[in-house]
Amino acid sequence: MQRDSVFDLIGVGFGPSNLSLAVRLAEEAGASHLNHCFVERQPEFGWHRGMLLDDCRMQISFLKDLVTLRDPKSRFTFINYLFERGRLPDFVNLKSFYPTRVEFHDYLNWVAQAFDERVHYGETVVGIEPVAATDNSGQVNALRVFSRDEAGREWQRVTHALSVGIGGSARIPEMFATLGPYNVIHTSNYLTSIDRVVGAPQNGPRKRIAVIGAGQSAAEVFVDLTRRYPGVDVSMVIRSSALKPADDSPFVNEIFSPAYTDIVYAQAKDVRRSLIDRFRDTNYAVVDRSLIEQIYEMLYLQNVAAEPRHRLLANTAIEAAVRNSNGQVELTLRDRLSGHACAERFDALVLATGYGRANHLGLLDGLAPYLGDALAQGNVGRDYRLTTPANFKPRIYLQGCCEDSHGLSDTLLSVLALRSDEITASLVQGAKQDRVSGPMIEQQKNGVDGGRIASAL
Ligand SMILES: Cc1cc2nc3c(=O)[nH]c(=O)nc-3n(C[C@H](O)[C@H](O)[C@H](O)COP(=O)(O)OP(=O)(O)OC[C@H]3O[C@@H](n4cnc5c(N)ncnc54)[C@H](O)[C@@H]3O)c2cc1C
Repeated sequence: MQRDSVFDLIGVGFGPSNLSLAVRLAEEAGASHLNHCFVERQPEFGWHRGMLLDDCRMQISFLKDLVTLRDPKSRFTFINYLFERGRLPDFVNLKSFYPTRVEFHDYLNWVAQAFDERVHYGETVVGIEPVAATDNSGQVNALRVFSRDEAGREWQRVTHALSVGIGGSARIPEMFATLGPYNVIHTSNYLTSIDRVVGAPQNGPRKRIAVIGAGQSAAEVFVDLTRRYPGVDVSMVIRSSALKPADDSPFVNEIFSPAYTDIVYAQAKDVRRSLIDRFRDTNYAVVDRSLIEQIYEMLYLQNVAAEPRHRLLANTAIEAAVRNSNGQVELTLRDRLSGHACAERFDALVLATGYGRANHLGLLDGLAPYLGDALAQGNVGRDYRLTTPANFKPRIYLQGCCEDSHGLSDTLLSVLALRSDEITASLVQGAKQDRVSGPMIEQQKNGVDGGRIASAL
């Protein structure tokens, strides 16, 4: 009989959400016995590498790092990172709560390195199946997690609990999806693809690029393109009438406090939705005020120099996108106020069209027949555990896809320190119950290295 290595927890994805959980599990004495590992698609740790633009800043305070709000004495604070890097006094001199994303990435990477032994990098989880009890009771006792590495080899591991922290996926409107990736990229691939898409400087007409979207990423890419490629004209196309500032005023910012999660969660579904809608302008389709001012000034100075190259096309709906025989993309643009339509050609498009948050549905699809309507309905406990039928014992925790139930901070960094604490408490409690009722599957405990022996399929 094939004996499986059985984990207490497998984390799918190793972004900030599961990284924060790794820290919590390491620091909570009561969790030291939990056998766990993480499976991450990327070959090494990376936090939105495609958008690690040189001078872009964090949109939350560094004090909302992976641990400080839970335990400022942890060795994994941003302040300790600065200390160990020898930059603490210099950082203080900056008088800023908002490090660059490049520096925050280095911080996250510094934390991640402490957990290298726990992470299987370069493996994509491709499916999850139930492991039924051996007594034919119909009970599901564990989960089998299937992954594929970069060499195409397949792996499987068995676990009593799962933490899904796979982030969002690039949202590409249908109209652009049909154009293919030749010269149409999403911001998530910006730094990895933009040189290819823009190509070498050429004699003749200047190249034209359109950035589609009105949020922070659109604005950052717009400014970056104007600086990176002096020979390129950039148009930012937005449906709304103006770039709007993100509301980060202090009272409004309280919605990102961990305590606010309780408030949102306690409401009925329709009240939760209206709360979220009321505060959408803290996070979606909004831009940092300083960046808006920078863009306004850049466009103004172009006018002073009578050299208009870059444009903000507001009130503009894109009605069609087709590729012409030269490979350019022709957009049909309609002015939403005048109703006037025109066609414009661009050498490339950058889509700043946001992220979908439904990846977990595909990932957990193999379990759907056993979960009742919990998955489709998004029925999640306050502890982020998917509500499952009584005969489905494995615990599935969802991170980053519970905005509807837990509020706007769910997709952000704001609550990570506390969320990982809540999930750990729930896990420890669940593992205790498992021990009382006794495992009903063939079990062989392994250390972390043992996890690597997960059998090839
Ligand atoms: C450009 C940008 C800037 C941002 N800046 C901020 C900010 O300043 N402040 C803030 O609060 N939030 C910010 N955010 C929001 C962002 O969602 C969070 O910062 C954070 O990334 C959420 O962490 P996560 O671990 O849930 O998801 P992610 O960071 O997306 O990590 C998910 C991980 O799962 C992996 N993965 C996905 N599918 C699989 C699979 N099938 N198998 C294995 N691994 C998989 C991915 O490779 C990835 O590493 C920003 C987002 C973007 C795009």
